[in-house]
Amino acid sequence: MGLIRLIILALLVYLVWRLIKTVTSRGSKSVPQSTERMLRCAHCGVYVPEHLALPHKTHHFCSHEHRQAWLEQQGD
Ligand SMILES: [Zn+2]
Repeated sequence: MGLIRLIILALLVYLVWRLIKTVTSRGSKSVPQSTERMLRCAHCGVYVPEHLALPHKTHHFCSHEHRQAWLEQQGD
């Protein structure tokens, strides 16, 4: 019976080792975090990444259409 106990023990050690490895690899995995600013479209209020936003003076827009529409609303 000694061999079976040894196998069970080895299996338990293996399972624990796998569990620890899974937990630690999950913990150390770097989550890609966007440091890019999100800018609010002055016309529709939608948030767009800075590189996609269309600036106009102090405002930003999600599309050319919204920039044009906003400019027409401002009347100048
Ligand atoms: Zn918009």
